[in-house]
Amino acid sequence: MSREFRFNRVLLKISGEALKGTQDHGYDAEAVREVVSRVKRIIDQDVEVALVVGAGNIWRGVMGRSGGMDRVNADYMGMLATVMNALCLRDFFTAAGVPAIVQSSIGMEPIAPRYDRVKAIRALEAGQLVIFAGGTGSPFFTTDTTAVLRALETDCDAVLKATKVDGVYTADPMKDPSARRFATLSFDEALSRQLKVMDSTAFSMCRDNDLPIIVFNFSDPESFEAVLAGDTAYGTIVS
Ligand code: UDP
Repeated sequence: MSREFRFNRVLLKISGEALKGTQDHGYDAEAVREVVSRVKRIIDQDVEVALVVGAGNIWRGVMGRSGGMDRVNADYMGMLATVMNALCLRDFFTAAGVPAIVQSSIGMEPIAPRYDRVKAIRALEAGQLVIFAGGTGSPFFTTDTTAVLRALETDCDAVLKATKVDGVYTADPMKDPSARRFATLSFDEALSRQLKVMDSTAFSMCRDNDLPIIVFNFSDPESFEAVLAGDTAYGTIVS
């Protein structure tokens, strides 16, 4: 049954790790299908969804840096890995009957067409899933920042950060049993309490442009729909 949603167009940011399931790295078909089914449920209820995926299941720039690699090259490798994840996701979405396109910030035809804002918005309006690959196209950024940038460019109502915990807490809930989850939080409060919601570039872009951030637990099957409906029992809305 369809429910009333508070947001009509959203950008979902998932980390690369969401695709690896129980594997050490790479893809786990079951985990990818799980991601696809959660997103499909939302698209089937007419919410427009754009997606940014990270690359932590394959490569993060920091891995190369710790081995002595040049930062810029290590980051390029990370951006290329996000394209691999985007192609994998598009394949599984297509198999599940969800029309999906990939756009890349980095020119690499015929693997994927370049990012095109107008085409992306048209695709979203037509009910297609749009996957933004290749990060921002520049090193020194993250896919969190990519998510916020593309969300702003494509007029999304919110950026949804899928994590393993069900929101932002007063302290790390894994270490401190008295940690409390915030249902809602203002940007200023998150800053003054030094709470880590997204990386600092991504966070300031949301704050400067009044783009709400919703942090929620993607492994909870109810959570994605619940936070979109504004249910404060799930996740944290920073606005
Ligand atoms: N990256 C980059 N510029 C961007 C986005 C990503 O250089 O605009 C690189 C960076 O090295 C990063 C890697 O791509 O470590 C993978 O992205 P991220 O760490 O955000 O992935 P996640 O942790 O979400 O899986």
